[in-house]
Amino acid sequence: MAKFIYSRGYWCDVGAHVFRTEKYGLLHDKMLEMGLARPDDFVEPKPASRRDLELIHTPEYVGDLFSNRHTMRTVRSEMPISRQIVEAFALGAGGTVLACRLAVAEHTFTMNMAGGFHHAFPDWAEGFCYINDVALGVAKLRHDGLIRKAMVVDCDLHQGNGTAYMFRDEPDVFTFSIHEEYIYPVKGQSDLDIGLPGSCSGAQYLAELEEHLLDALETHRPEFVLYVAGADPYREDMLGTLMLEIEDLKRRDEIVLGACAERDLPAAAVLAGGYAPLVEDTVRIHYNTAAALVALSDKVARGPDA
Ligand SMILES: [Zn+2]
Repeated sequence: MAKFIYSRGYWCDVGAHVFRTEKYGLLHDKMLEMGLARPDDFVEPKPASRRDLELIHTPEYVGDLFSNRHTMRTVRSEMPISRQIVEAFALGAGGTVLACRLAVAEHTFTMNMAGGFHHAFPDWAEGFCYINDVALGVAKLRHDGLIRKAMVVDCDLHQGNGTAYMFRDEPDVFTFSIHEEYIYPVKGQSDLDIGLPGSCSGAQYLAELEEHLLDALETHRPEFVLYVAGADPYREDMLGTLMLEIEDLKRRDEIVLGACAERDLPAAAVLAGGYAPLVEDTVRIHYNTAAALVALSDKVARGPDA
């Protein structure tokens, strides 16, 4: 059975910002209302420790971050900073660590109902991202000897530039990013980048995803997948011009998670971006990812002997 990691502490006050932190609580409430989950299906995370954060970030950056103020290293987040915001990011990162751990330990699908902050670099924040929980989740599993080979499947609208940089010299971690090409960020180099033109249709997106993802899985053969399930490839999104309908994003989830299920691969999903004018649309896209996790988690066999 899929596991969901959630805390009320994921919310933080970022003022009138395009990044809507209330989406976390709205998703939680919708999952309960729709009967997708019961209250005891949610697991409460602990904040990531400073020692864990230093697996991927420099001690100087971590020090600056926990000073709760903007410095040369933190100001590129394009987000306000406060003690509450830093605590929420540390808790969200702890949630991704827990989601990864539970996925591998229980050989299932999990979702951290936050996270996906793939633009943070070792020594600086960037693009609404203070802690690169994507890199942290994978690095922590490997550090603890729970897995060796992993794949990051980043389907957020924006390239996972921070994650690509962090694993640039690590052949056991394959970074895959499918994103809109001519928008933020300045592109880094993932192991495989699919940069799509503006106005790309849902059909074209899904064809590119399916072809390249299945190839990459066959070639790299990971033991674990971290799925960055951004809601921002949506056609209404305010930060991009890809033309995916909500149904296309649902199909995207089924392609990624279906490919994992077919290969008996545990996977953890994180939410990442989503900037639809109506927050309900963003929440619906994330809800569909959660529903796909529930539907497909039964198909992940309990280990290679099952
Ligand atoms: Zn994004």
